[in-house]
Amino acid sequence: MAFRQDLDPISYLEGTGAAQVAVGWLERGQPFPRGLVDEAFFMALARLCAAPWQPFVTAGRQPCTFCRFSGGPALVSSKGVHVPIGASNVFVPGADRLYVAPTMVVHYIDAHEYVPPTEFQEAVLRCPEMKSMAYLKAIRALGFSLRR
Ligand SMILES: [Zn+2]
Repeated sequence: MAFRQDLDPISYLEGTGAAQVAVGWLERGQPFPRGLVDEAFFMALARLCAAPWQPFVTAGRQPCTFCRFSGGPALVSSKGVHVPIGASNVFVPGADRLYVAPTMVVHYIDAHEYVPPTEFQEAVLRCPEMKSMAYLKAIRALGFSLRR
């Protein structure tokens, strides 16, 4: 997993869609915003990351570089929501752009006090249920095609 500053351009989906921006591509040695987040936001993000829509298969599980020896958990569970960590990305449609975050972001928030950008938090809270018709429409509305 390559380090990226939050809200830097990132290119994952094909198409002439809206801008794709990175959230939560953290790495040891790179500073990142820390603090508290609302549990409502955390749980909304966890639900989106539990079985995220994937336009293509990604390569293997990436370790957490902050967890010194274990590489971080393979699963984060909270209140009955189980999030597999490190092997996939979550795509969150915003008003005019698409946020691309690794599912590892759930672990970063839970264990390493990461605070994602406010606009991403708002998009997560507004995001339709994962893989619902409304979700896919929101992805398509930003100009991305929905193969798979
Ligand atoms: Zn970690």
